[in-house]
Amino acid sequence: MNINRRQFFKISAAGLSGSGLAVMGMAPTAAQAEVRQYKLFRATETRNNCTYCSVGCGILMYSLGDGAKNAKKKIFHVEGDPDHPVSRGSLCPKGAGVLDFIHSAQRLKYPEVREAGTNEWKRISWDEAIDRIARLMKDDRDANFIEKNEKGQLVNRWATTGFLGSSAASNETGILDVKFARGLGMVHLENQARLCHGPSVAGLAPSFGRGAMTNNWVDIKNANVILVMGGNPAEAHPVGFKWAVEAKIRNKAYMMVVDPRFNRTAAVADFYSPIRAGADAAFLLGVAHYLLTNDKIQHEYVKAYTNAPLIVREDYKFEDGLFSGYDAEKRSYDRSSWAYELGADGYALRDETLQHPRCVFNLLKKHVERYTPEMVSNICGTPKEDFLHICEKLAATCVPDKTTSILYALGWTHHVGGSQMIRASAIVQLLLGNIGMPGGGINALRGHSNVQGFTDLGVLTTMLPGYLTLPNENQQSLQTYLEQRTPKTLVDKQVNFWKNTSKFMVSFLKGMYGDKATPENNFGYDWLPKWDRSYDVMAFVEQMAQGKANGYIVQGFNVIAAAASSGKVRDGLAKLKYLVVMDPLQTETSSFWQSHGEFNDVNPAEIQTTVFRLPSSCFAEENGSIANSGRWLQWHWAAQTPPHEAWHDGKFLGTLLMKLRELYEKEGGVCPEPLMNLDWHYHDPKDPHPEEVAKQLNGYALADLFDDKGNQIAKKGELLSSFAHLRDDGTTTSLCWIYTGQWTQAGNMMARRDNTDTGLGNTPGWGFAWPANRRLLYNRASADPAGKPWDPKRKFLHWDGVKWSGADVPDYPPTAAPGSGVSPFIMLQDGVGHLFSMGAMTDGPFPEHYEPEESPIPANPLHSGSGKSPVARIFKDDKPSFGSREEFPYVATSYSITEMFRHWTKHSLLNAVVQPEQFVEISEKLAASKGIKAGDLIKVSSKRGHIRGKAVVTKRVMTLQVAGQEVEQVGIPVHWGFEGTTRKGFLANTLSPRVGDANTHTPEYKAFLVNVEKV
Ligand code: SF4
Repeated sequence: MNINRRQFFKISAAGLSGSGLAVMGMAPTAAQAEVRQYKLFRATETRNNCTYCSVGCGILMYSLGDGAKNAKKKIFHVEGDPDHPVSRGSLCPKGAGVLDFIHSAQRLKYPEVREAGTNEWKRISWDEAIDRIARLMKDDRDANFIEKNEKGQLVNRWATTGFLGSSAASNETGILDVKFARGLGMVHLENQARLCHGPSVAGLAPSFGRGAMTNNWVDIKNANVILVMGGNPAEAHPVGFKWAVEAKIRNKAYMMVVDPRFNRTAAVADFYSPIRAGADAAFLLGVAHYLLTNDKIQHEYVKAYTNAPLIVREDYKFEDGLFSGYDAEKRSYDRSSWAYELGADGYALRDETLQHPRCVFNLLKKHVERYTPEMVSNICGTPKEDFLHICEKLAATCVPDKTTSILYALGWTHHVGGSQMIRASAIVQLLLGNIGMPGGGINALRGHSNVQGFTDLGVLTTMLPGYLTLPNENQQSLQTYLEQRTPKTLVDKQVNFWKNTSKFMVSFLKGMYGDKATPENNFGYDWLPKWDRSYDVMAFVEQMAQGKANGYIVQGFNVIAAAASSGKVRDGLAKLKYLVVMDPLQTETSSFWQSHGEFNDVNPAEIQTTVFRLPSSCFAEENGSIANSGRWLQWHWAAQTPPHEAWHDGKFLGTLLMKLRELYEKEGGVCPEPLMNLDWHYHDPKDPHPEEVAKQLNGYALADLFDDKGNQIAKKGELLSSFAHLRDDGTTTSLCWIYTGQWTQAGNMMARRDNTDTGLGNTPGWGFAWPANRRLLYNRASADPAGKPWDPKRKFLHWDGVKWSGADVPDYPPTAAPGSGVSPFIMLQDGVGHLFSMGAMTDGPFPEHYEPEESPIPANPLHSGSGKSPVARIFKDDKPSFGSREEFPYVATSYSITEMFRHWTKHSLLNAVVQPEQFVEISEKLAASKGIKAGDLIKVSSKRGHIRGKAVVTKRVMTLQVAGQEVEQVGIPVHWGFEGTTRKGFLANTLSPRVGDANTHTPEYKAFLVNVEKV
C-alpha cells in the first residue's frame, strides 16, 4: 500500500490514536523512508504535545508493549512531530528531555501519608487515602460551610479548604476541578495563571475584548518590526521564537529587544537596549507620547477603530499620580467617573474631529505628555538615543502596509503594575493600527502548556468558565447577576457580544447541574458559591499564615516554589490540618515539612499538618486537550499506562466525590444539595473518560433547536456546532461556551491534523481554536472601514459582496457589510479598541508608571507622593517584610533559562545534566566592587530570606543610570529547589515580596530589592 506521510497521518488521526506501522498492518513507503531508526519499527506511535510551555509543540511518542493483556505500554523514544504547523519537528532542550521527565526517578509510585508531627512517608492504599481525605474534607466543610452571611444573604461557600489546579493538566481535568470544587462550595479555586499571566487577561480584555494572545505563533513571521519586551522567547519559548527568526529571514523584519539583561533573544536581535526592571510602563507611555507628538499614528484606523473620538465625563481627573475617585483609607478607587459622557439615547458622545478637550484622544495626549524621552531615560535607565531609535522603528509601522508584532511574557506580567504595562502596549499598537493585522498584535506568550486552558475554564477564585464571573454575595438572584453582568451597548449598531451573557450562563448551569437545573430553581444558581472577597493565592497564603485555613488540595502545582515569599507559604502550610498533593513528582510543596538543612530548615516534630502525597499520571499517560498560547485546542493521546499505582486526576476527583456523596447520604451534613445535584453522570462516575467530558465542555442540544426562520439547527441530544446556538431557556448545555465547536456531530475538531496553509501561514484545519476556530482575533480590523484590506499583501479577510471570506473565520458578523456601522471589536460595548479603558481596571483608565514597592530610587520622578501604586495588593502583616534601599541596594529580577522549565525540569536527567546547579548573574562592576569572581559562591538576601548560588559575572547585566544614581540589577534564575535530580538548591522565591498587581493580585517577582555578598 503506497501512501504518503500526510495520508498516513490522516488515517491514524481518524482512528483517534496514532497507530504503529505494525498495528496498522501496512508499510507506507514515504513514511518508511522517514522512520529514521530501525528501533521504531516495532513501536506504537502516539501523538501528544510537549507538557512544558504554551508553544504546544507536537511530539511523537514511541512505545513498546503491544496492548496484549498484562503488557504495559512504555515510552522509549520521543521526537518532534514534523507535521505540526508551529513546531515542524523541532523541540527545544526542554521538550527534547521530556522522556526523562516521564521516567524521572522522582515519579511517585504509590499513595503515601506523612502523619502529623512525624518525620517519614508511610505507604498507604488508595482506599485508605480516599477514606481519610473524604473524612477530613467533610468534617471541615460541615464545621465551616457558610450557608448565609451576616446580612442573611445566601452564599453557600466553603472558604477553609482550598484547591489549586494544575496548569499542565488537560482541559477535561480542569473542568472536573471546577465542577468538584464549586460543587463543594469552594471559593479558593486557583491555578498558575494567578502567578503568571493573570495580568494578560486584565490588560488585554479591557483593551480589545478578550484576554488572549491576539495573533498566533506562526503569524509572527508576517511582521515587519518585532519588539520583544517583557519576555525572552529565545529561551522561554524557543520553538515559537523560530517564527520571529523566520520574519527576519523572509520578511527582513527588524527585531528589537528591551530587557534588563542582554539575553539570548537580544543575542539574535538587530537592536538591544537595557531597561530597569519594573519601568516598562514608563517606556511604553513614552513611545505613545512620541507617536502622538510626531504624528506617527494611523489616523484612519485610530478614528474608526478606537475610542479616540469618544468623550469622557467631566468629573474624570488625573492629578499627581492619582485618578479621580481615590479613597486613601480603602486604597481603592470609585471608578464611576472613568466613563463616557452619554447622550439622551444612552450612547457615548463623540467628536469625529478629535478637537474636544475631553475626547479620549486629547486626554491620552495630555496623560502621556510627561513621558518625554528625557523622562523615559531618567526612569528606565535606557539611553535616550536608544529609546528614540526604538520609537522611530515602531513609528515606521504606522502605515497600512507595515506592522509591528509585540512579544511579551512574564517580564511584564510579573510586576506590580503588570496589567497596566500590557495596557500601555495596547495603546501603542492601537495608535499604530496594528491590532487585527496579520503580523501585528500583542502576542502574550503564555507560560505553562495549559495555563491558557485553565484560564479559559475559570479555575480562578472569582471566575467561571468562558470568562463568566462567579457571582458575588450581592448578586442574590440569577436575574440580578445577569442585569449586572450584561453590558449595555454604548455606541449604536455595535455587536456587544456579551449581551448574550444569559445564554452562556444558563448553559453553564445546565452543564453543572443537568436535569436538576430547572427554570423554577433558576437553573441551580443558588447552589453556586457566592464570594465576599477574592480568595486568590496571596489571600489564601495569608489565611493559612493566620491559622484560618484547614485544608488544601494541590494538584500539579508546586505552590511553595511558585508563590511569592516561600518562607511565608511554608509557615502557612505548617498551620493546616491537612494537605493533599496530587502530582506525578516529588515536589517541595509535599515535602515542605522535611528538613533539608539550610535549603529548608524546619523541625518536622513541630509541624502538625497531615500530608497526603498521591501519584498522578502525567501528560504522556492521558487522553485530552490542552490550549496553547494561540488558543489552539489540541487533542493528545496516552502513549503508556500510568506507572506503578498512579491515577489520572479525574479518577481521583471522581472517586473522592463518590466517597463524599456516600458520607453525606449516610451521615447527612451541611448543605449537601450542591454536591448531590452536581451532574456527574459519567460512564464511570469514579473515573470519567476525557472524551465524554470534552463533549460536555462543548455542549449539547437538550431539545430540537430551530433558528429564527424555523430551520432546524440541531436535534435533541446532538452536540452543538456553535455557541451561537446556545439558549437561556434550558434547552442547551455547555460547560464553557467559548469551547463550543470543539467536538461536534462531525467529530473531535481538536484532533484534526490538516496543516494546509490557507494564507499567510494560517492553518485552520489543525486542531480547533476558540472562539469559533478563529486564528487571528479582531481580524475585521485587517481591512479598512470600506472593507478593503489595509495592505494588499496581507489580504486575510475581504468582503465578497455577500459575506466576509478569506483565510480565517471572520471575527465579526459574517454578513455585516462594509458601511453597516458595525465596528471590529465585537466583544466591547462600543465596538472599538480602547485607548481609554473606562472602569474595566482597578488602577486607572490610562496606565501610569509607579515605582515598585521596593524601589532603588528615593522618589518617583513623576509624582510628589510615594510614587508607588496607590492600590497595589498589600496585606498589613506583610508590610514589615519590605526592605529599604539603604539595606538592600540592588534590584533583583527573576527569570527562566532555556534548558529548564520553572521547577519541573530539575526532575529530568537530561536537563539536570546541562544545568546542574543554582547560579546568580551580576554585572562586572558590582562583582568588582564586592571582590567577587566568576564561580564564587555568593549570598543574595532580601528582607524575606536568602539564597546562595554560584556567581556568573557578566556583561549581560549592566549598571544603569536611573534618576541621577547608579542602579545595579541582579539576575536570579528560578529553577532549583531541594527536590529533584539537580544538586540541591534554594527556592528563588524565598526572596520575592508579597505585593500584588492591583487588578490580578499577581505578585511582584521581577523588581525587588536585595543585597549581594561573597560567601
Ligand atoms: S518547552 Fe515549549 S518550545 Fe520547548 S519543546 Fe516544549 S512546547 Fe516546544
